[in-house]
Amino acid sequence: MSEPLLAQERRLVTEVPGPKSAELARRRRAVVAAGVGSVLPVYAERAGGGVVVDVDGNSFIDFGSGIAVTNVGNSAEPVVRNVREQVGAFTHTCFMVTPYEGYVAVCEELAALVPGGHEKRSALFNSGAEAVENAVKIARAATGRNAVVAFDHAYHGRTNLTMAMTAKSAPYKQGFGPFAGEVYRAPLSYPYREPVEISGKEAAERAISLIESQVGAGNVACVVIEPIQGEGGFIEPAPGFLPRLAEWCQESGAVFVADEIQTGFCRTGDWFASEHEGIVPDLVTTAKGIAGGLPLAAVTGRAELMDAVHAGGLGGTYGGNPVACAAALGAIELMRSERLAERARGIGEAMSAALREIQRAHPVVGDIRGRGAMIAVELVKPGGKVPDAEAAKRIAADCHREGLLVLTAGTYGNVLRFLPPLVMPDHLLREGLDLLAGAFEKL
Ligand code: PMP
Repeated sequence: MSEPLLAQERRLVTEVPGPKSAELARRRRAVVAAGVGSVLPVYAERAGGGVVVDVDGNSFIDFGSGIAVTNVGNSAEPVVRNVREQVGAFTHTCFMVTPYEGYVAVCEELAALVPGGHEKRSALFNSGAEAVENAVKIARAATGRNAVVAFDHAYHGRTNLTMAMTAKSAPYKQGFGPFAGEVYRAPLSYPYREPVEISGKEAAERAISLIESQVGAGNVACVVIEPIQGEGGFIEPAPGFLPRLAEWCQESGAVFVADEIQTGFCRTGDWFASEHEGIVPDLVTTAKGIAGGLPLAAVTGRAELMDAVHAGGLGGTYGGNPVACAAALGAIELMRSERLAERARGIGEAMSAALREIQRAHPVVGDIRGRGAMIAVELVKPGGKVPDAEAAKRIAADCHREGLLVLTAGTYGNVLRFLPPLVMPDHLLREGLDLLAGAFEKL
């Protein structure tokens, strides 16, 4: 039994935020910790397809997908159907106490979908950060080594180890140290900001040279990288960078971990962004898009690495919760039946074309990048490459006032990123891009 589809329209019936949202904000201030922020303080009541509807009846075009989560849309029919069925059967037994089929079925899907024809195993968790933590545990147990290599502009989460792996200080790390040890940072390939043009392979050699000299190849348990960096500003490394890093890991006995938490599940036009250059990571971390909005995460990888961990070494009370697994099976079914990877490519073409138009008229747009339905613009002071975070903030605020939900990102806070649900209807995508163009006009 599916919910009737929400009207797929932008609709503003009050100021933004409206009175009911303002009242909820007042209640929130009294009881919710100030450290938890919100991009757009309108309180959601319904969401589906390409819109989020707030408690005042305003309907926003969604270019955020709850930060790359609702790839299949909110309350997608197969997700709702599976969740309803599961929630009525049982909500939790704990897989570590009495297991159930849904967990196994999700791991079967992951084994089939994650790149590589090798034998794979998965372990399920609750959040992206938890998956990254566990990937590091697995790599350390399998290699008997300690060092973790992460990259400039990386984002891997907010737990202690993943904060150490995350590059940006404010707001993610500021005041929260000391951080986990044995985490080393290597330079990325960031084509737009290289001081001189440098190929992907050369950028990889630059990183490798630093790893070899400052960490020591024989000490590296794992190299962890987002194939396209998410929070860092949708930075797509130059072609050849990722393949060379993966090759170096193989030569050096280090585990190559692709953090596909933001890029995974059809977002970039493939099931996983690693596929674009034919990379076969040793381990892949996933979360976000995997379960249509329910909390689920996974580490998937080579059987011999995954099985190197002793029984009882991995897990958690809720990891692979049955309701979240049911949701994931519904979401994956929909990604397959609706060919959402292909749809992401179409969205990417439409977005890139519109953004190129905007760039022609507005030199504040320094760079357009990303892949599939994961596209961003980096804003700079015209005439150079000095980051313009203020412009990004103003454009986002204007979009929000007009009923378009957009997110910012980037080490310098000067990136606008667009992550529409992959089921967004064309007319809303076009309207959203027109609103964006309007916001640049007003800037
Ligand atoms: N890795 C990447 C690449 C991410 O984008 C995120 C979330 N933005 C995380 C890890 C952390 O995931 P979570 O917020 O679910 O812990």
